[in-house]
Amino acid sequence: MSENSERYDLVLAGGQVFDGQTGASQVADVAVTGDRVARIAPGLAADADRVIDCAGQYVLPGLVEAHTHIFAEVSKVGAPPDEAHLHRGVVAACDAGTVGASTFAAFEKYVAAPARMRLVNFLNVSVLGLIDFRFGELINPGTLVPEDALAVAEANPHRVRGFKIRLSEDVVGLDWRPLLKRSLALAGEAGLPLMIHIGETPEPLPVILPLLRPGDVVAHCYTGKPYGILNDGTVLPEVYAARERGVLFESAHGKSNLSFAVARPAIEQGFLPDVVTSDTSARNWRGPVFDLVTSMAKLRAMGMTLEQLVPRVTTAPARLTGLDAEGYGTLVEGGPAHVTVLAEAEEAVLPDAAGNKITAPRLEPSVVLLGGEQVPTVPWRGLPATGA
Ligand SMILES: [Zn+2]
Repeated sequence: MSENSERYDLVLAGGQVFDGQTGASQVADVAVTGDRVARIAPGLAADADRVIDCAGQYVLPGLVEAHTHIFAEVSKVGAPPDEAHLHRGVVAACDAGTVGASTFAAFEKYVAAPARMRLVNFLNVSVLGLIDFRFGELINPGTLVPEDALAVAEANPHRVRGFKIRLSEDVVGLDWRPLLKRSLALAGEAGLPLMIHIGETPEPLPVILPLLRPGDVVAHCYTGKPYGILNDGTVLPEVYAARERGVLFESAHGKSNLSFAVARPAIEQGFLPDVVTSDTSARNWRGPVFDLVTSMAKLRAMGMTLEQLVPRVTTAPARLTGLDAEGYGTLVEGGPAHVTVLAEAEEAVLPDAAGNKITAPRLEPSVVLLGGEQVPTVPWRGLPATGA
């Protein structure tokens, strides 16, 4: 691989190349041949058929989104995966509970199988999935049919990587315990994680968190809704205890679940999300969420460094969704050439889910490679600071 005579199809030249595992970076060239990363080293540009100058930009493993809603046309929350993700720098994504056992076949046929990017999902424990947010999918508890969910998961290991329960009171009502218990049992039987959606849960987190298993996931860790992770501005000891046991926390911005007033003190206190996600949906991909890179920019403005952010949008979501086994989340010689190059963009007015606004520099995907092929990017859908 290291002979000087080797020709490369493409070299991304002179960017700051990030290690997905550690977040460490160094200036180097990334050479691509076919669908593989051929070499990462300085001085490769002379041996390339095509060179893209990435000086001053960040070269990352292709971004992985672990929480989105992409069952377009069927679910009211379904966004189009390519427009909302691929063309904005995300090469693989996980639908988080839009799909239930009764709608899975349509998701597979019309969304997941035809998609250019790699899609997996966390199956809603309700057979209905999240079709219409106005009607909680577990208000009729009989829609939790473990054998149906298990059968779909077992028949589709390529796609189903976990289960999802939305634990808000408007979804589960007050009798949430048996629903969570049955969901955990079903996830246990399948050997997969359970993601729980928090914010307006029927009871506070210290009651719920001890029930979760290591590897289970709490979505919306910076929600500003009642029963979040803070008490009087301080991260609850029960939240740290859950993390200590291996429960994961993801940021899942969403239409109503990223609060700067929660994220800023939590990050200051050192409570970072294990996985950074956007919770993109049809209700927010034109704002206030926009996309994963905008969620990164918001958390950077709240105090996270790029070194902290990169593993949380690459290796960590890849591991959570099992996509690490296919080479997603890392940028290594011999590995698949999924690459996202990010550039610093102009300052913009960035809102949280409560409508609070900050002005902060954004990140913008300048080059996206999916299996070595460059895919088109589209401009940010928000407004620059001067135009807001
Ligand atoms: Zn969601």
